[in-house]
Amino acid sequence: MSSNDEPRLLYNLWAKEAAVNSLPRPLCNCLDPQYAKKKWSELKLHAEVQDTDCSGWLRLLELIDEAASDRREEFSPGRHMTPEQWAQITTLPASIAKLKAVKHFILYGSSLVRIPPEIGEMSCLEQFTPYTSYRLHWFPYEITRCKNLKRSTVSTRALYGNHKYRPPFPRLPQLLDACTTGNCSVCGSPFGDSRPMQYWVSLRVAADVLPLLVYTCSIECRSKIPKPPENYVPLPHHGGMNLNQPKASW
Ligand SMILES: [Zn+2]
Ligand SMILES: [Zn+2]
Repeated sequence: MSSNDEPRLLYNLWAKEAAVNSLPRPLCNCLDPQYAKKKWSELKLHAEVQDTDCSGWLRLLELIDEAASDRREEFSPGRHMTPEQWAQITTLPASIAKLKAVKHFILYGSSLVRIPPEIGEMSCLEQFTPYTSYRLHWFPYEITRCKNLKRSTVSTRALYGNHKYRPPFPRLPQLLDACTTGNCSVCGSPFGDSRPMQYWVSLRVAADVLPLLVYTCSIECRSKIPKPPENYVPLPHHGGMNLNQPKASW
């Protein structure tokens, strides 16, 4: 690249980010009462089902395959999709498990409502940037398997139980089959015919304390869930309106 190309390239990048930001993308009102000091009512997990025939999804599968085969260290799929395609993405495919070389995963401005547990298999992950993904209210417990994950940029006000406003956690169980690989989040054993138990737990992941959804196979695995930091519900719990959370800090 000649140095003359650089400003144009930077401009293109800027224009693309600006386009992503100005596109009307699906938003939600789940956590709105925290800003208006309104009364909370029982929350539900987002149940949106991914349209797997849309061009955005097909493009995403292609981009993941490409990034896996060229062993990319930084992966930012939204940059290589049209804003319309990026807005069609509500979850990620299980094939993110193939992204073994990715150190920085950028999901800036996404319309995601959940991240699948396979993120735990992205073993080189050091930095995670889902910033301004306002419908992401929780993360899978499996993200704690990314042992090199040191930096994150999460929109914390979009999170269940965030320390500023303490929005409620949806009561569990919910969407029992939708957010699991079919394996225990703690020991990795398949559930088979037994019914998994779902819990919420707030744990520090890189820079932030995140609400994590755990699927456990047994009381023993539940007891292996680490202790949450000070100022969060001290044990794994089932959420709901009666849950006693520490006071909001805003
Ligand atoms: Zn929501
Ligand atoms: Zn287990």
